[in-house]
Amino acid sequence: MDWFKRKKSTIKPVEKKDVPDGLWVKCEGCGEIIYKKELAKKLYVCTNCNTHFRIGSDEYIKILFDNNTFKEFNENIKSADPLNFKDVKSYKDKYNATVKNTGLSDAVVTGTAKIEKNNVVAAIMDFRFMGGSMGSVVGEKISRAIDIAYKKEWPLIILSASGGARMHEGVLSLMQLAKTSSKLARLASKKIPYISILTNPTTGGTTASYAMLGDVNIAEPGALIGFAGPRVIKQTIGQDLPEGFQRSEFVKDHGFLDAIVHRHELKQRIVGIIEFFEHKNPAAKA
Ligand SMILES: [Zn+2]
Repeated sequence: MDWFKRKKSTIKPVEKKDVPDGLWVKCEGCGEIIYKKELAKKLYVCTNCNTHFRIGSDEYIKILFDNNTFKEFNENIKSADPLNFKDVKSYKDKYNATVKNTGLSDAVVTGTAKIEKNNVVAAIMDFRFMGGSMGSVVGEKISRAIDIAYKKEWPLIILSASGGARMHEGVLSLMQLAKTSSKLARLASKKIPYISILTNPTTGGTTASYAMLGDVNIAEPGALIGFAGPRVIKQTIGQDLPEGFQRSEFVKDHGFLDAIVHRHELKQRIVGIIEFFEHKNPAAKA
């Protein structure tokens, strides 16, 4: 009964070829496998289905502003963890690890820049830093950016990418809603334009404060925009939600956005808006 025994295989296993990690990426929208370098050339938009991939503040700075004109300010403000917050991990440890992993000091980068030679003050959020959550540092940096826009009389651009207020800082995060909103009201009293750009996702306290307070509110296609998330709303009202609920297109159709702009056209559109306001209010031109 020898033939029942499996003979030891003489076939050598083919050695797996090493595919360098991270060269290809799968599109969440259509499943297409895309070469990362090609995706970067297309500003991280899938050419097959138009899905706008989530990108960091560094990429947005390259896309939106004239080469090397972005000058960061207030880069060293860090959270002091006044509540000494702990869940599974201490907030302090989590914060320090995120600083190390992302190279960012918090969830927003602020600075001055030029966009087609127009001076602007900009605050660009970054979802990689604790879900772009808005704590005391984000609120403070944005408030100071608004102050600089007020003083210089330069248009303000805030690009949001945020899950909302940062739980780890409790009520101090919530206070940032009032702080940033009142500063924006002061900016508006001087008739300085503020353009808000909402990217995927912009939710919670960020939507409930500066993200929806732009003179012009524009969003990237397909971005999740809302206050509470769809799952929470569904559970609360006990009803199925309409298709496309809380996506840019739905939010615009219901009157909460002025425009949806493809990432490839974002810069030009902002320039158009800035020049429109300058024309309306020539005194505001720097
Ligand atoms: Zn796709």
